[in-house]
This record gives sequence, structure tokens and C-alpha cells, in this order.
Amino acid sequence: MRYDVIILGAGPAGLSAAVYIARANISSLVIGLPDGSRASWAHNIENYLGFPEGISGKEFKERSVAQAKKFGAIILEEEVIAANYSENGGYYVETNKENRFEADYLILALGLNVKPSGVKNEVEYIGKGVSYCSTCDGFFYKDRPVVVIGNKDLAARETLDLVEFASKITLISHAKDFEISENFLNKLKQNNVELRTGKAIEVLGDGEKVTGVLLDDGSKITTDGVFFALGNMGSLDIARFLGLEINEKTKSIVVDRSMKTNIPGIYAAGDCTGEPYQVSTAVGEGAIAALEIIHEIRNRKDRR
Ligand SMILES: Cc1cc2nc3c(=O)[nH]c(=O)nc-3n(C[C@H](O)[C@H](O)[C@H](O)COP(=O)(O)OP(=O)(O)OC[C@H]3O[C@@H](n4cnc5c(N)ncnc54)[C@H](O)[C@@H]3O)c2cc1C
Repeated sequence: MRYDVIILGAGPAGLSAAVYIARANISSLVIGLPDGSRASWAHNIENYLGFPEGISGKEFKERSVAQAKKFGAIILEEEVIAANYSENGGYYVETNKENRFEADYLILALGLNVKPSGVKNEVEYIGKGVSYCSTCDGFFYKDRPVVVIGNKDLAARETLDLVEFASKITLISHAKDFEISENFLNKLKQNNVELRTGKAIEVLGDGEKVTGVLLDDGSKITTDGVFFALGNMGSLDIARFLGLEINEKTKSIVVDRSMKTNIPGIYAAGDCTGEPYQVSTAVGEGAIAALEIIHEIRNRKDRR
């Protein structure tokens, strides 16, 4: 299915953009979980204009969803696991339910990227064997053993991207159980990925490069690479997929005043563009991105 605009994220930034775009009668899809928005976790939001008594995060979320839907926004509650250039022009987005959508414009409103995981030595070995992106770094592990750490669909997806390169792949749950969809689980098995439950407690290395991973049961896995793929696909993972410029110091997507990224047709808004992390700025940035896109689409149509 193809849309004019796909909005990734259903928090204040994404839903604000959705209101503008839906009201402008532009075809669009929002992909994200309103319950995954950090605003929905707030006990009481007191600094957002128009609510002198404050409003609970839960009610704010419900009212935002209702407002976007009222104007026709479609919200798909799935997890985005990949986004990239489409062979048909524009971009594609894939979800954990194996749905694929295409659009001319993307707005990334995926909130804060929560990483690293805190495993001992993880940060020390970034770039020396520790990675967060198999599409970016998988190539370096041709015919070498790798470990992937994570128990959800994101981890499965990252692992499958390594299959064409690595000589052996071990997927460690880092949790009690795997929570991977059946289709992904089947693909992992077909590709001889070893699945191990257990927690990684330390990245082992010789100072220059990774040599292994230590698990909480005392066992060691020898490996050249450790790919962390915990939780869901975050804003920076998607941004890296798309080749967006990232400020590595602030861990945010670089945008201009129109919320444009360095790639034409891709905009970003909200917490993923950096501080301040506030509902008001997220709502404002979502609106700016949407208005810019509406303007571009109308100009394009006028020129035809
Ligand atoms: C406890 C708490 C209290 C707060 N209190 C206040 C306050 O009082 N006032 C204030 O102004 N700010 C407050 N904040 C900050 C505020 O919540 C954020 O600044 C705001 O939510 C940012 O909006 P956003 O849309 O950029 O990101 P978010 O609200 O975090 O939304 C991100 C969206 O992206 C989705 N998403 C992420 N990854 C994926 C994926 N892979 N696939 C699909 N969807 C994905 C999420 O499900 C979610 O829908 C608080 C934050 C917290 C945690």
C-alpha cells in the first residue's frame, strides 16, 4: 500500500503531524503505539498550554488519538522494524507483522532512543566489535562468528540481516524468554541460528577487539562481534537505516528549522531531534514538519 506520507510514531509529535496532514486531505498512515509514548506515562502534565488543572498522560494520549482519528488519521499499532529507499521511488517501511508500506514522505517521530544496555564493557568496545546495526556493520563479519543480544522481533530482524555474512550466529535472549513472532522464529531456525536464553553480563575483549561474551551462568561464548538489539527499533536505528545525519554527541537526528533531515522527503520531529524533551516542543515540531510537507505536496500538484 502506498501513501503520500507515513508518520512513524504515535506520540505528541507524530499525532500532531497526523492532525494537520489528515485535515489537509493528504493520504497518510501513522505507525506506532500510543501507549509507547513517553507522554502517556506522565502522572500529570502541568506545563502544556490549555490545561490549567494539568492532565494525566493517559488522558492526554486518549484525547490526542481521538483528535487525530476525528480527522481521518489511520493509526496502525505495529512496530516498525525497517525503513529504507523503495525501488518505486520514495521510501518503504516494514513492520513486525510483515506489513510493508510505501510513501513519498516520512516523518520520524519515534521519541528517544534508549541505549546502551549497560552490559559491562559494552561502551568500551563500540567500534571494536560492539555494534547496534547489522545492516551497517554486518559486512565486516564475513565468515566470522557473531552474537546478537535481544529477545524481540527487532533482534530477530537484526540477526537475519547477518545470515548472509556470519559463519555462526548465536542469539542470546538477555531475558527469561524469547518474544519473537512465529514467522521470524521459523526463519531463524531455517538459518541455523542458535537460540540461547540467559543474560549477557560482560563483553570480553583484549582491549583492541571483542573476543567473547560472558553469560550469567558463567559460560563464555567466543565471538568476533556483539550486536545489541534490545527492546524495539528506536529512532536512531531507523535513522541509521535511512542514512540520516545523526548528532552522535546528543544522540539525536539533525534537522533544520523546517524539521527537514539531510535526506529529501524525510522529516523528523519531537524527542528524536534532541532537547528540550517536552510535549509542547514535540507538538510544535510535528506541526512544522506536517505543514512543510503539505506545502511541498500542494506546490508539486500546482506545477503539474
Ligand atoms: C514520566 C514522564 C513524565 C513527563 N512529563 C512531562 C511533562 O509534564 N511535560 C512535558 O512537556 N513533557 C513531559 N515528559 C516528556 C514528554 O513525554 C516527551 O517530551 C514527549 O512524549 C515527546 O513526544 P514524541 O512524540 O517525540 O515521543 P514519544 O511521546 O516518546 O512517542 C514516541 C512514539 O514512537 C513510537 N515508537 C518508538 N519506536 C517505535 C517503533 N520501532 N515502531 C513503532 N513505533 C515506535 C512509540 O510507540 C510512540 O508512539 C515526560 C516524560 C516522562 C517519561
